[in-house]
Amino acid sequence: MKRREFLKGAAFAAAGAAVAACGIKSPKARAPKPYEPVPGSRLRLSWEPYELTLKHTFTVSGSSRKATPGVQVRLEFDGYTGYGEASMPPYLGHSVESVQAFLSKLDLSRFTDPFMLEDIMAYVNSCARKLRGGGLSDAPARAAVDMALHDLFGKLLGQPLWRIFGLDPSRTPDTSYTIGMDTPDVMAQKTREVAGMFKVLKVKVGQPDDLQMIDAVRSASNLPIVVDANQGWTDRIKALYEIYELKERGVVMVEQPLPASALDDIAWLKGRSPLPIFADEAVQGMSDLRRIKGAYSGVNIKLMKCGGILEARRMMSYARAEGMKVMLGCMTETSCGISAAAQISPGVDFADLDGNLLISNDPFEGAGVSEGKIMLNNLPGLGLSIRK
Ligand code: MG
Repeated sequence: MKRREFLKGAAFAAAGAAVAACGIKSPKARAPKPYEPVPGSRLRLSWEPYELTLKHTFTVSGSSRKATPGVQVRLEFDGYTGYGEASMPPYLGHSVESVQAFLSKLDLSRFTDPFMLEDIMAYVNSCARKLRGGGLSDAPARAAVDMALHDLFGKLLGQPLWRIFGLDPSRTPDTSYTIGMDTPDVMAQKTREVAGMFKVLKVKVGQPDDLQMIDAVRSASNLPIVVDANQGWTDRIKALYEIYELKERGVVMVEQPLPASALDDIAWLKGRSPLPIFADEAVQGMSDLRRIKGAYSGVNIKLMKCGGILEARRMMSYARAEGMKVMLGCMTETSCGISAAAQISPGVDFADLDGNLLISNDPFEGAGVSEGKIMLNNLPGLGLSIRK
């Protein structure tokens, strides 16, 4: 049988099976109509600043705050709207002004096909500055456009991104929930309030009283704890000692124990640590990941650091190929940014996607959390609906 005939035969057999399976509908009626962009349609980008109000004052090693500046982005095409956002915790050096200045530079109306994700993001990235170390500037603004583009992409196809990417929604991770730094009594109380709702707790360390804080959380819950020092420890020997103490207390992972610049000390620590060591501040995008491979056990990938879903997926593939574990993290974000990360979360080793749970003015509903597990929905794109 010639190949063409074989393929025709296979299609015919499949069509026959479909008719038999559904009984009434003809195979023609079941075939989805592929989306065709309306000739002349162009991408239209717009945005507005949106300040995220935190439910509680948020303290990490070195700073405290009650709100986070953000910019919400819309990308329209042919009657469809994709949503994205930039979130800019002040210590990272981005601002509403810098994000708006970057977005103002873009001319997305030059694109008539929103499915050209790679080309469009290559153009967006070409508008950023090259940083020392090989990365690109304006990651939150680039992430906002990337998210909106992916949301649009899914909406035009009528499918959630996780399905387009071929991911299993039942394999979403448990997200950790951060117990903010406070007095031991308050931390124990906060732990009791959320212990039944999550499977993993996160504690920000990097203070002289780290072990007391962990003991306070432990007094209220037996859940596994991940800790994030946010570069707050400075001595590798003390750090190793502390990691052993933390392991005794049921801590399962340590994020960015030493300054990002101390790569040799991190590699030394990783070689001796009984717990996996994850990079956060040390890795923004792919160029950092190449540089730090071997020194860390895993990497915390965040859309706001790397510039969006496209880059995050590349980093995930690279990290896994290099034998590194993968964590997905977030900034303070609305459900827009969190749902974007949730779409690519099935199969990751750790997730810290609680940013939307920490704000009181979320304009979106998206991926949810049930008993700590991230729950994806069947809505197209990022899975968002506007909160009434
Ligand atoms: Mg971190």
